[in-house]
Amino acid sequence: MTQAAKQTDSNARQEFNNRDALWPNYSPPQDLIFTHGRGTELYTDSGETYLDFLSGIAVTAFGHAHPHLVKALSEQSEKIWHLSNVFRIPEAEKLAQRLAENTFADRIFFANSGTEAIEASIKAVRGYQAAIGKPERHRLIGFSDSFHGRTIAAVAASGNPGYVQNFAPTDHGFDHVPWGDMDALDGVITDHTAGIIIETVQGEGGIRPLTPAILKHLREVCDANGLLLVLDEVQCGVGRTGKLFAHENFGIDPDVLASAKGLGGGFPIGACLVSEKVGQHMVVGTHGSTFGGNPLAATVGNAVLDLVLEPGLLEHVQKQGKTLRKGLEKMTADYPSVVSKVTGMGLMIGVKCEVPNVELMKELRDNKLLVGRAGDNMIRLLPPLNVSDKHVEQALAIIAEAVAGRAS
Ligand SMILES: *Cc1c(COP(=O)(O)O)cnc(C)c1O
Repeated sequence: MTQAAKQTDSNARQEFNNRDALWPNYSPPQDLIFTHGRGTELYTDSGETYLDFLSGIAVTAFGHAHPHLVKALSEQSEKIWHLSNVFRIPEAEKLAQRLAENTFADRIFFANSGTEAIEASIKAVRGYQAAIGKPERHRLIGFSDSFHGRTIAAVAASGNPGYVQNFAPTDHGFDHVPWGDMDALDGVITDHTAGIIIETVQGEGGIRPLTPAILKHLREVCDANGLLLVLDEVQCGVGRTGKLFAHENFGIDPDVLASAKGLGGGFPIGACLVSEKVGQHMVVGTHGSTFGGNPLAATVGNAVLDLVLEPGLLEHVQKQGKTLRKGLEKMTADYPSVVSKVTGMGLMIGVKCEVPNVELMKELRDNKLLVGRAGDNMIRLLPPLNVSDKHVEQALAIIAEAVAGRAS
């Protein structure tokens, strides 16, 4: 409808549903409106309480309205929100320094989302190869069932036909091999290959961690061929697996790492972490972002890092992950016709369903437990990193009841 027609047609205006003003690209459940949350609990406009074991897809890493994060955000909001990177931003410098101190990385670039952290990663790889005199090396190798975000280069990197179709030329500088197929990997490396990109723990495609053997092989292939290894830890990083970053579980470092989601605890921030070998080439003019690392985002990022680095937090993640896994594995043993496999690391857990995952998910939602879904017919559990014993028990009881109900 034209704007003029909308203004004159009052009937049409009355019937106009706010929702219709959004792109129809998402499909949220119609009947759920959340108004506020505390920790792992979310409350609806009709006064119902839900357990949030999705955390906005691994974003609200410390649940809702955590006092330390609220305080950091409110205090900074009264000082400076935004400045531009044409000025120094001490909050961003501090966050970068702390990330560097606690990881393989020496240089950090801040963005606003996961997909932007991936874009920066791709540019860092190509920029590095060009800077060392190998500009012909511009192709990256990705793996099947990956998810790296929704920008043009990120969908091209994942190669997932469902995401690329209609939106990206077939050759955007990426080659693809089946996940875990190391022979196929050897077959696609050419003089034009610049690097390899993979999720340390695959998220959307099905909760699938790399194995120590695969990651070791990827590192060796990169070193032998002068390629850079990019790990996408947008979902599995920032404490989610019981380590600050998931690759630490394997004792192998990447050259480039993309982070986002949990890093802002719900405030949009992304980061591309690189070693000095790579970072020294990302000189003035090579990359940038208007909002990236602004004082508000960086302040919240620092507050999240305070909580992740607090002694005992990562151990808590490991412990709660074990409890959840144990409970879920009992269900797969008792009711293999409903749930057949538990995968993941720490508090990033997948449960392979033998009934349609969306049906089980809806049943859990009807019983006030929110979970996600993932590829390979899985449901995905991503509770806050500080989830309590009580809430883990409650969630397990709700899942057990739904699973047992399905089996009978
Ligand atoms: C969510 C996700 C992204 C994209 O992050 P956005 O913030 O949605 O752009 C990239 N990689 C992985 C592994 C993700 O889970």
